[in-house]
Amino acid sequence: MSDTSDTPCLRCGTCCMADMIGNADAEDLARWKREGRDDILRVHSDALWVGDHFLSAATGMTIRDCPFLDFREGFFFCTIYETRPRVCRDFEPGSSAICPKHAQTRSR
Ligand code: SF4
Ligand code: SF4
Repeated sequence: MSDTSDTPCLRCGTCCMADMIGNADAEDLARWKREGRDDILRVHSDALWVGDHFLSAATGMTIRDCPFLDFREGFFFCTIYETRPRVCRDFEPGSSAICPKHAQTRSR
């Protein structure tokens, strides 16, 4: 989820239901350690990649949506937006077929 591109984000939350948080990189992990974000580090370390999706190591349940995705007044939003992982910052609206803005950006 990103609001920085020329294509406005619809805040539909779809990209945040696609395993993004589990793909945090070393820079994200170092920043969260610096910022004392043990809450994020705990969520990240609980996510186990099992070939095509993440499982929670604690519960064994499939992780479907990012735990930091929330919904209010008709829109999804990121509760850790200022320190969200690079994979989320780099995801531009319309850059993937999972995003409803994809067809729009391709027709330009
Ligand atoms: S960290 Fe934020 S932007 Fe990234 S998947 Fe979770 S809710 Fe979406
Ligand atoms: S799928 Fe596209 S429109 Fe929906 S939240 Fe993500 S970037 Fe925004």
